[in-house]
Amino acid sequence: MASTSADVVIVGGGIVGIATAYYLAKAGVRSVVVERDSVGSHASGFAYGGLSPLAGAGIPGPVSALAEDGMRLHRELATSLPEETGVNTEYRLRPSLSLAFTEAEASGAQAELSWQRERDGFSVRWLDAAEARSLEPRISEKAIGALYVEGGADVEPYRLSLAMAQAAEKLGATIRHGDVTGLQRRGSRVTAVVIGGEELACDRVVLAMGPWSGAASAWLRVEIDVRPLKGQILRLRAPGAPFQCSIGWAKNYATTKPDGLLWAGTTEEDAGFDETPTSEARDSIMASLLKMVPSLIDARLVQQTACIRPLSSDGLPVLGPVDGWEGVYVATGAGRKGILLGPSMGRVTADLIAKGTTDIPIDAFDAARFKA
Ligand SMILES: Cc1cc2nc3c(=O)[nH]c(=O)nc-3n(C[C@H](O)[C@H](O)[C@H](O)COP(=O)(O)OP(=O)(O)OC[C@H]3O[C@@H](n4cnc5c(N)ncnc54)[C@H](O)[C@@H]3O)c2cc1C
Repeated sequence: MASTSADVVIVGGGIVGIATAYYLAKAGVRSVVVERDSVGSHASGFAYGGLSPLAGAGIPGPVSALAEDGMRLHRELATSLPEETGVNTEYRLRPSLSLAFTEAEASGAQAELSWQRERDGFSVRWLDAAEARSLEPRISEKAIGALYVEGGADVEPYRLSLAMAQAAEKLGATIRHGDVTGLQRRGSRVTAVVIGGEELACDRVVLAMGPWSGAASAWLRVEIDVRPLKGQILRLRAPGAPFQCSIGWAKNYATTKPDGLLWAGTTEEDAGFDETPTSEARDSIMASLLKMVPSLIDARLVQQTACIRPLSSDGLPVLGPVDGWEGVYVATGAGRKGILLGPSMGRVTADLIAKGTTDIPIDAFDAARFKA
């Protein structure tokens, strides 16, 4: 039978909510994760799984510390999760080759080199076209150069989400089904979450509802300015040898994953909460893929997936205690980087609850910044 009270209730069983439960459990704090579908059934289970703290919204800048902490935690989880659960999360180091087709793209990438080179654990080099083709002869003859980065990694996001969920459960967390529709409070203190007609009493609540986080604005009377940004991925059976690195251009990427398929993405679509794959997205991803690697014209589509990213209006995460409430925390808005950032967002939230403090600067992520 579902429990009627909990120390901490986490709303949302994506990577952010599950990571919060995992790090709370490690700190000896029991939590209940309430998920209305199933763990990792949205973006956290269907992302590409690329891990790099060297690029993305707010990098370099306010997101850098969170991204570097995320990378450090992923390296740890690569060993600890298989030991704790027996699940192979398919984490592996994965070099990336980001192609430039124009002088503007080349100089844009080169402008980032000086700070990227200073990051510990990474090797970043600009390659001319011949050097790039010596690493991957199948890239387009039209590419004029590429940024080559060693030190990044990738992971299978669904396996990662499930492994973290299993590990958290083994340490005392509970995952239950339910659609949270509101919060109860006494004065400024949260006292319960409402799940349909039922109330689950609690001392603390973490709202980790991904792109649906905006729904909590009405419960909190605080604007959580997060909207869905749709993205799609193709899985293809490709001719020839597996790719040994991730090939990228602009916001597109492709590599051979451990399942033997070539995963290629992506799109950025304002389509509300729609998560259905479309033929327009398939054609646009194929066009970008062929621009990068023309020989993939013979690749065969095996699967197409679509999901939605949680994107805030300034592109930064929304993370930390909620103004005007005691015991309520929000953890969302990771956009295109949620698999990388998720473990760190979970650790930060767990630290705020268990220790009252965090070693990662989060002022820039305060939900209060969206006040009119
Ligand atoms: C195509 C694509 C590729 C991507 N590739 C990468 C990548 O390579 N690297 C990277 O770092 N990131 C990537 N991302 C981004 C990443 O997937 C997301 O940022 C991340 O998964 C968001 O995690 P989340 O836990 O915040 O949200 P979600 O995974 O959406 O989880 C939120 C959960 O909350 C639940 N929920 C919502 N409301 C309620 C409620 N009222 N009651 C109960 N449950 C509720 C939902 O059912 C859902 O399961 C990609 C995203 C897309 C779309």
